[in-house]
Amino acid sequence: MLPVDLHAHSNISDGMLPPREVVARAHARGCKLFALTDHDDVRGLADAADEANKLGMQFLPGVEVSVSWRKHTLHIIGLGFDPAHPILLEGLASVRHGRDERAVRMDAALASVGVSGVLEGARKFADNPEMIGRAHFARHLIERGLAKDMKGVFKRYLARGKPGYVSHQWASLPDAVGWIRAAGGVAVIAHPGRYEFGRQTMGELIDEFKAAGGEGIEVVSGSHNPVDFERYAQLAEKHGLLASAGSDYHATGEGAREPGILPDMPVGPMPIWQRWISDSVWDTA
Ligand code: AMP
Ligand code: MN
Ligand code: MN
Ligand code: MN
Repeated sequence: MLPVDLHAHSNISDGMLPPREVVARAHARGCKLFALTDHDDVRGLADAADEANKLGMQFLPGVEVSVSWRKHTLHIIGLGFDPAHPILLEGLASVRHGRDERAVRMDAALASVGVSGVLEGARKFADNPEMIGRAHFARHLIERGLAKDMKGVFKRYLARGKPGYVSHQWASLPDAVGWIRAAGGVAVIAHPGRYEFGRQTMGELIDEFKAAGGEGIEVVSGSHNPVDFERYAQLAEKHGLLASAGSDYHATGEGAREPGILPDMPVGPMPIWQRWISDSVWDTA
C-alpha cells in the first residue's frame, strides 16, 4: 500500500468531517503525505495544515475545481499552491457563486416530479452555505427514505438525465488550470475513469489540459478499479503526465473509501509526489 492520499474532502465542501478530523483519520491509517482537496474552496486548508503539522504528517494544500468542458463536467485538482493567492481565491469565489442558484433550480426540478421541500432539507447538510451541492441533496433524500444509499440516490434522482439534475456552467478548463498555476500549484485531471470518454475524447482533453499548463492525472483513485490503474498509468506515461493517487474520501459509511492509504502505483509513470518529497520519506518517521 501507498502512504499517500492527494484527494479528500471535508465539510468545507461535501465531506462530512471537519478538516482536522479528516487529517487525523488519514494519519491514523498510516498516511505520510496528505492533501485536502475540497470542491471549489480552500477555507479548510489552514486547519488541515495545522493539524498535519501537529501530527508530523506532510501536507499539501489542495482543491478540486469544477469545470465545464464541451458538454461534460470535469474535476481538476490543484496541489501545492499558495492558498492565499488572489487569482486563485477570486477564481474559486466565481465558481462557488453559481451554486446557490443551481440549488434553487434543482429544488424546482425535483418539486416538478413530486419531491418537494428538498432545498430546505439539503441546506441542513451543507455546513458551508456557499458550497451546497448534489451530495447534500443526496443525504437529505436518503434521510427521507427516497433512496437507500448514495449510489441509489444519484442513479434515481441526481445523475445527469435524472429528474433532479440541472445543467450548470462551471469554470473553463484553461481558467481552472491557470488559477492553480498562477498560485504556484500543479494541476491534475481527477478520476479520469469516471468520465467514460473514448480514446479520442480523452486524448483531446489531455492535449487541451497540457496546452493550458496541466501536468498530472489521477491513476490510483477511489473511483478507479485495478484495470483503470493500469490504463491510466499507461496513459500518464504516454503523455508525460505526473501520476497522482487519491481516495476521494467524503464520509465513513458512504461507499468503501477511507482516507490516507491507497493501493500501489503501477510501475511506469512518474509519481507526482516526487515533486515535493524523496522516496526516503517512506523510511523515516
Ligand atoms: P456537485 O459538484 O454539486 O455537482 O456534486 C458532485 C459530487 O457529488 C461529487 O463530488 C460526489 O461527491 C457526488 N457524486 C456525484 N456522482 C455521484 C455518484 N454517482 N455516487 C455518489 N456520489 C456522487
Ligand atoms: Mn464530492
Ligand atoms: Mn470529483
Ligand atoms: Mn473529490
